[in-house]
Amino acid sequence: MTTIAFIGLGNMGNPMAANLVKAGHKVRGFDLVAENLEKAAEHGVEVATNGVEALEGAEVAITMLPAGRHVLSVYEEIAPKAAEGMLFIDSSTIDVESARKAHAIAAEHGLLSIDAPVSGGVGGAEAGTLTFMAGGSDAAFAKAEPILEPMAGRIVHCGEAGAGQAAKICNNMILGISMIGVGEAFVLAEKLGLSHQALFDVASTSSGQCWSLTTYCPVPGPVPASPANRDYQPGFAASLMLKDLRLAQEAAQASGAATPLGAEAAQLYALFEAMGNGGKDFSGIIEFLRGKAGQ
Ligand code: NAD
Repeated sequence: MTTIAFIGLGNMGNPMAANLVKAGHKVRGFDLVAENLEKAAEHGVEVATNGVEALEGAEVAITMLPAGRHVLSVYEEIAPKAAEGMLFIDSSTIDVESARKAHAIAAEHGLLSIDAPVSGGVGGAEAGTLTFMAGGSDAAFAKAEPILEPMAGRIVHCGEAGAGQAAKICNNMILGISMIGVGEAFVLAEKLGLSHQALFDVASTSSGQCWSLTTYCPVPGPVPASPANRDYQPGFAASLMLKDLRLAQEAAQASGAATPLGAEAAQLYALFEAMGNGGKDFSGIIEFLRGKAGQ
């Protein structure tokens, strides 16, 4: 049993903390929202009144926060109070630069740290089947792996500090671009009088095959579990896809990588969100593509 401080008990953090409790760990949680703390307490999480209090007696601290600025402000607050050698795990999806700064703050205070963003969404958090993409030293990863295990389906050590965030945004840039590509193909098929099922049957076993088509098909019918069959209820909300595409663009600009399709995908999702669709599943972008085609 390990004592774990868990800061950020929102949609993802709450079920993740619950799985750590189920695995026999002692979890002390903190969130700014009282309702989230109550929910965590129902799952056996000990509630703290601030981040520093959550840290008392803990060997590991996990953060699951909205963005880089939240992570850095929590690290600035709690790292000076942490016992030397403690492990900090940040599972939020944040920009690579902030992730590296968070590692630097931890190192300054003699702490081990990894960035370990996840994919798998709230469903994966509840089921304990998230994919963790970790960045940090071998020593930090070795200590983190058994802690992540009850929340994980898969854990990949991607490299040094920031490599987990880099893997996450590269993967999600592929996803955003490929979903638009699949959506465009279905819209073109509709114009050409080709049925959804016929395009699916061909492309799902041909060179057009990809996850956006075979698991998350953006039209109802061919893949019964995809969000298209439930009026694009998420799933993975378009606003979160936009967040990740913007992080990818920031990283591309900072590193000098050319990502023209990533930039276009970010713009299309920004328009989709501006039209009030941020809460819809990201595969709903096909509706926007249909609207554009009809103009
Ligand atoms: P959320 O907004 O539901 O949860 C974030 C929580 O952090 C909130 O409850 C908020 O009150 C809390 N918080 C903010 N600042 C704080 C502070 N200073 N101290 C304590 N608590 C604080 O968001 P979420 O959906 O749980 O996502 C968390 C992270 O995981 C994000 O970075 C997101 O991009 C990423 N992520 C989300 C999903 C998803 O499907 N929801 C999937 C993969 C990754």
